Amino acid sequence: MEQEIVLPSYDSLPYSDQAMGRRENRMASIISGEARQDLLRLAKDWCAQYGQAGNLAEAESLAEEARQTVGEAILETSLLGVSGKATYAGTRLPCACGGWLRFVSYRGRWVKSWCGEVRVERAYYHCSACKSGQAPWDRAQGLNERIWSPRFKAMVCGAMGRLPYAEGCCMLLELCGLSLQESSAEAILREVGPRIRAEEAQRTVQMQAELEQAMAKRLMVEVTSEPALPPLSVRGVEGKRLYASVDATTAHLDGDWHNVQAGMVFTVESDVRPAW
Ligand SMILES: [Zn+2]
Repeated sequence: MEQEIVLPSYDSLPYSDQAMGRRENRMASIISGEARQDLLRLAKDWCAQYGQAGNLAEAESLAEEARQTVGEAILETSLLGVSGKATYAGTRLPCACGGWLRFVSYRGRWVKSWCGEVRVERAYYHCSACKSGQAPWDRAQGLNERIWSPRFKAMVCGAMGRLPYAEGCCMLLELCGLSLQESSAEAILREVGPRIRAEEAQRTVQMQAELEQAMAKRLMVEVTSEPALPPLSVRGVEGKRLYASVDATTAHLDGDWHNVQAGMVFTVESDVRPAW
């Protein structure tokens, strides 16, 4: 009996890139002018036949429900061209174990997008050497073994990063008609959170290195790999001048806003003599 394989957690793009891509997608329309005109004509014809509203609230509800219904239909239909047979990548593919993944069949899976839930068929491959299996299409789309699309997860994280789970779920339901259990929201955050933290840590290290380099250049000191010098209070100060710099800002720490002040006292290796 063939072993069912759980695919490793994977997203094709880091969260920040997904968020950026989403923003850019919204700014740039992918529907051509002609296609838009056709769609509007269909919508107006449909509305003339079925879209009678008694007041503003009814008109809003009608538009909301139609948007959801049409969105699901377009999502499902537009995926037909890139799923199913289009996902076939040959009879065999190299496996990470050194063996070969062989094409088995087309298998279905569910994908939950903020536009709705769709079932897609894609090519499934299995390696008899390491008994692992995978659907390369899933990986290419940034999907893992869970149902949620990367864009859906980005949206949930955007809400849950600002609100507690219960309130975030209510907000998504009210604003987007998105039904989501608190446990699902938590699972998404648990999956995406460590990746965001790793990205932030990497950015922090990079920024710190850039700042240190810039500061060293400005202060005309050499950056060495020697151990850090002891604090100023226990070492002698060299140089003709002692410089002091103080700045303050407001930062959100431990659940509240605080005034944070930072000071720096330093000397330089040589003073630049003014031109005057
Ligand atoms: Zn293998």
